[in-house]
Amino acid sequence: MKRRYDLHTHTTCSDGTLTPTALVERAHAHGVDVLALTDHDTTAGIAEAQTAAERVGITLLPGVEISVTWQNQTLHIVALDVDVDTVPLQDGLAALCKFRDWRAREISRRLQKKHIAGTYEHAADLARGRILSRTHFARALVAQGYARDSAQAFKHYLGRGKPGHVPGAWASLPAAVGWIRAAGGHAVIAHPARYKLGSGKLQRLLGEFKECGGVGIEVISGSQSESENKRFADIAVRQGLLASVGSDYHGPEKRWLELGRLPPLPAGCTPIWEAFRKKAA
Ligand code: AMP
Ligand code: MN
Ligand code: MN
Ligand code: MN
Repeated sequence: MKRRYDLHTHTTCSDGTLTPTALVERAHAHGVDVLALTDHDTTAGIAEAQTAAERVGITLLPGVEISVTWQNQTLHIVALDVDVDTVPLQDGLAALCKFRDWRAREISRRLQKKHIAGTYEHAADLARGRILSRTHFARALVAQGYARDSAQAFKHYLGRGKPGHVPGAWASLPAAVGWIRAAGGHAVIAHPARYKLGSGKLQRLLGEFKECGGVGIEVISGSQSESENKRFADIAVRQGLLASVGSDYHGPEKRWLELGRLPPLPAGCTPIWEAFRKKAA
C-alpha cells in the first residue's frame, strides 16, 4: 500500500499553533502514515509527539529545521530521522536558541526606536517560554494593531532590510549538516524556491551542500507552486539528490494548507524515504 508522507511540520515548541499531540492527532485524521516533526532549532516536541504517534498508530520521524546562514542569506535545512539525544546536535541547537533569544531582544530594541514598545515581552508571552521566532513578533505586532496580518508585519517590520530586522548569525552549512550526520539523520534543503537563488548561486549551494554530506531537497513543499515543485524535481534528478515532501504546516489558521495533502512526487525522483531506517520506509 502507498503510504502518505508529510516530512515538514511545526508545533507550539517553535512557531506552530498546535501542540505536538494535537499535530499528530490531526495528521492521523488526515491519513498521514509517516509524519516528521521539524520544529525550528529545537527537538523539544519530539518525545510528546512520539507518545501520541504510538497511541494513534502512525510513524513519527524525529526531525528539526535548522537555521543556517549561507553567503549572507538565511537557509533552512531540515534534518530527518535523527537520534535526538546526540550531543553535537543538541549543543548546536542550544547555541542557535541562545542566538534566538539575543536576537529577540535586539528586534525589540530596534522596534522600540520606532516607538513600538514591549514587543519582547509580548512575543515571549505568546511563545510561552519556548523558542522565540519572528512569527511571535509578527503576531504581537498584529495584536497591537501595527499590521493587518503576519505577512504585513514581515513586510513592514521584520523582513530583510526592515526596522526590526536583525541579520542572522545562524549555523554554517557544514556545521548544520555535520550535526545531522552525527545524529544519524538525513539533511534536506527546505523549501528551495523560497531563497530566490539564480542558477549559478543555486549550483554553488547544491555543490557545497552535497560536499558536506547533504542528501535531499524538498521537491514538494506546501510553500511552493506547482511549477516550482516541477523545477526542483528536475533539479533533484539532475543533481542526484533525494526528493522530500513536506507541507511546512504551522497550524489550522492557514486554512488552505493541510497536513498530508500534497501532490505526488514526479516520476524520476528518488523519494527520501528509501534512505530511512526500516520502520518508516
Ligand atoms: P525566524 O526563524 O524566527 O527568523 O522566523 C522565520 C519564520 O517566520 C518562518 O519559519 C515562517 O514561519 C515565518 N515567516 C517568514 N516570512 C514570513 C512572511 N513573509 N509572512 C509570514 N510568516 C513568515
Ligand atoms: Mn516557521
Ligand atoms: Mn523554513
Ligand atoms: Mn518550516
